[in-house]
Amino acid sequence: MATPLSADKMIAALKAEGVAPVEREGWRTHNRNEAGPWGGVNGVLIHHTAGRDSLDLVWDGRSDLPGPLAHTHLAKNGTATMTGNGRANHAGRAARNAFDAVVAESSTHPAPSAASGTVDGNQHFYGIEIENLGDGDDPYPGAQYDKAVRWAAAICRAHGWTQHSVVGHKETSVEGKIDPSFSMNNFRAKVADRLSHDAGWDPVAPAADEGAEDGTGVLDG
Ligand SMILES: [Zn+2]
Repeated sequence: MATPLSADKMIAALKAEGVAPVEREGWRTHNRNEAGPWGGVNGVLIHHTAGRDSLDLVWDGRSDLPGPLAHTHLAKNGTATMTGNGRANHAGRAARNAFDAVVAESSTHPAPSAASGTVDGNQHFYGIEIENLGDGDDPYPGAQYDKAVRWAAAICRAHGWTQHSVVGHKETSVEGKIDPSFSMNNFRAKVADRLSHDAGWDPVAPAADEGAEDGTGVLDG
């Protein structure tokens, strides 16, 4: 359990990690704090948007689910736009068993079990929405995937967390979510690689689509 990063600390961490976040006007006070608590925080949650041109949707939300729907929106070209600071409507209910594994930074992430009870995910997780159709065919361009890894690593580094504080929505949801449509084990390995270096580590970005490179284009959960 940790105190959420302030907006300034979040931006500093992301910049240091090479994310180059875009600060959309108003993002520092855009949240759902009136609907419930925000923090302590325990981890970061990875999503795909299941759509295109979704920045406004992530900001505004829907009639049945007010925005922000994430803290950051990540476009196909790797542009990371800040969409929320505080509680956001992205995680829904998280299975207690999956949540406990994150808190313990367990190296295994059990399939979410509703029978174990649920936790208010929006209180405890930072969230990123990665623009992708989520159909298993739509690629995650290397520049986009690399920024997602950097985003997750930056938050882990700021809190002193390991890669096991990073989970996919499909790994926590009791509502049958399938996102993101890539392997979270591979993603966590990439985060761990970054955390073993300084924040400024800047390897050559992968030229090829990450999904094609390691089979992560296949829906696995
Ligand atoms: Zn999701």
